[in-house]
Amino acid sequence: MRKTKSPYIKVRKSGIHNKGVFAKRDIPKGTRIIEYVGEKITKAEADDRAEKVIEEHKKKEKKGSVYIFELNKKYDLDGYPNYNTARWINHSCDPNAEVDIIRGHIWIIAIKDIKKGEEISYDYGYDIDDFEDHPCRCGAKNCVGYIVSEVDVPKLKKILAKKKKKAKKKK
Ligand SMILES: [Zn+2]
Repeated sequence: MRKTKSPYIKVRKSGIHNKGVFAKRDIPKGTRIIEYVGEKITKAEADDRAEKVIEEHKKKEKKGSVYIFELNKKYDLDGYPNYNTARWINHSCDPNAEVDIIRGHIWIIAIKDIKKGEEISYDYGYDIDDFEDHPCRCGAKNCVGYIVSEVDVPKLKKILAKKKKKAKKKK
């Protein structure tokens, strides 16, 4: 399959992580920037794949990533294939886009006016479990240092504050 394209973006090296997706022109708020495509798989298959990646992580064999999105009650979408340009979009603690499912299609949508040259980002929405495996280098003023869902940020801040206290006591 050919790589997905969008008139709005280009992929290049990113300061956040590896490659990133950047605005090729100004993108108004509400724009469907690019579709997130991949392989449609059952929930059971998705669980198997996610587990496999986590296992590989633990064994430090490979630094795999999970690109699985919930599509509906029955199916998930695995965006690992190379033709899925949207897989290069990085997480940010102050994102300018979000993921939305519209009639069975996953879209990356601008939630702010994005200026030409800005990096596109969205909230990966990661679970707070194993947050230490996912450090964040987004560089946003409000960056919490780890990739966790926005809803878990207050919880994470509490955990980090406790850790800091403990570290001080040890000294
Ligand atoms: Zn961050």
